[in-house]
Amino acid sequence: MRKRRIAPQFSHPLRAAWRRATGLGRSRVGAGRQYSDRMFPTRPAWLPSLGTCFPSGCAVCGRWPALPAGKPVCGDCAQAFAAPVARCPTCALPLPPDTGAGAGTATHTQTHTCTDCQTHPTLLAACFAAVDYGYPWQSLIHRFKFANEPAWATWFADMLWEQTALRPVARACDWWLPIPLTRHRLGERGYNQAWELTKAIHRLAAGTMPANAPTLRHDVLMKVTDTTAQHHLDRHARLTNLRTAYAVHPNAAHALAGKSVLLVDDVMTTGATLHAAARTLLHAGAASVSAVVFARTPAPEADSAE
Ligand SMILES: [Zn+2]
Ligand SMILES: [Zn+2]
Repeated sequence: MRKRRIAPQFSHPLRAAWRRATGLGRSRVGAGRQYSDRMFPTRPAWLPSLGTCFPSGCAVCGRWPALPAGKPVCGDCAQAFAAPVARCPTCALPLPPDTGAGAGTATHTQTHTCTDCQTHPTLLAACFAAVDYGYPWQSLIHRFKFANEPAWATWFADMLWEQTALRPVARACDWWLPIPLTRHRLGERGYNQAWELTKAIHRLAAGTMPANAPTLRHDVLMKVTDTTAQHHLDRHARLTNLRTAYAVHPNAAHALAGKSVLLVDDVMTTGATLHAAARTLLHAGAASVSAVVFARTPAPEADSAE
């Protein structure tokens, strides 16, 4: 695990100067003060562009070099495993082929709501996903989350932002929030993959944002209960735990009133996580909650990936 730099405990004037100069050593109070924009504040702007200068192998088929240059997965693999499919606009599940939109343009014409969402409307105003959770994305997401490879966020964001239906919804939201981790999990991992994805999408969208561009906030929603180790509980108990797993930070509660929010996460399995977070935000006064995830489990059975 990367060794973290700790700010020296100077007296107050020197500490303020240290904070201004390095961006390190800010208050540790709050929901998201350990994110990587603070942990690696001096990363030069030219560093990400290095990836386009040196060829690399495709992470799926191993072909070298992966083309187009600078992409971690070659064009053939991306085309083979990320073909656009028609998805329900409120749960992002693939729609049956007989619901209208053709596969080639499906992600750009999300107009058909699935029968489940028609019968039981969800809390989400809209929901977008780039791919189905399965081969080969499953292993790449695993590397993104568990192998200290947050740079996958850039490429996952590329695939998400290709969906033209997502863009107006995302731009119209007031706040973009990552699904948070508990402080313990964040400390273990060193970064929140959902926050990395949020920032990567924002970098892509930055040039086309309206004057009142969405604000990225990692200090609004907190995860206060660890819900990963509850396999011994039945489904009802797990859902009950999940309902109390999120909270709105008291400092942000007032400003949240009336805001339209976009939640960002890497994977959506049953949707229980996103719905629990959305319920918390709506109860706290948010006007609407939409969601965007990189991968959606097509036949949800469990919360294991969340
Ligand atoms: Zn390939
Ligand atoms: Zn649906």
